[in-house]
Amino acid sequence: RLISFEGLDGAGKTTQMDLLERWLRARQLSYIRTREPGGTPLGIEIRRLLFQQPELALTPLAEAFLFQADRAQHFETLILPALAEGKLVVTDRCFDSSIAYQGAARGVGTARVEQLSLIATQGHVPDLTIFLDLDPQQVQQRTDLAQDQSGKRDEVSRFDRESVVFHQRLRETFLCLAQTHPERIKIVQATRSITEVQQEIILLVEQLLMK
Ligand code: C5P
Ligand code: MG
Repeated sequence: RLISFEGLDGAGKTTQMDLLERWLRARQLSYIRTREPGGTPLGIEIRRLLFQQPELALTPLAEAFLFQADRAQHFETLILPALAEGKLVVTDRCFDSSIAYQGAARGVGTARVEQLSLIATQGHVPDLTIFLDLDPQQVQQRTDLAQDQSGKRDEVSRFDRESVVFHQRLRETFLCLAQTHPERIKIVQATRSITEVQQEIILLVEQLLMK
């Protein structure tokens, strides 16, 4: 089974994935945790191209293809083999992010990006997608707060400087995707406490594992 976490930066994906990981380990479930972009050695290089070399001035389409190259490598060499071994795979972002970021927000087109994504995943889709939903205004506040507290985030990139309008478009796209795929994509209100959000996620994962 494949579970993806989606959401705007600052929605709490990392925190909730940490908690889910603890829960899975306590139950001795066999899983791997990974992320897009950057789940493979190639992915780490692609991540660097995407986020640490602004002088490359990637066009939206070139950016979209780099995300797909990351994904193709990720599915072929990591995700699909793990699924074949019966492991649970939990990924920080998957192709819904590409549809929202490159497809909608950067204007490549959601249908086109969806097509490319399905080529990259060899037709595979997550069994469960958890969309941590948060209002973009609040995302901004959380991100600023995190930056103030730690003095750094994992990466400072042009992605962190996008406008509220950009994030609003992202959110609308995720919500629209959730409406189109209600069986797969579950909207989790991320404004509540960490524990409440965690409990809802555990319920969703339990439902998936019982299927
Ligand atoms: O979630 P993560 O921190 O790995 O994402 C790194 C950055 O890349 C984020 O700022 C996110 O907004 C952006 N991103 C993107 N397109 C994707 C996935 C992530 O622009 N398909
Ligand atoms: Mg994160």
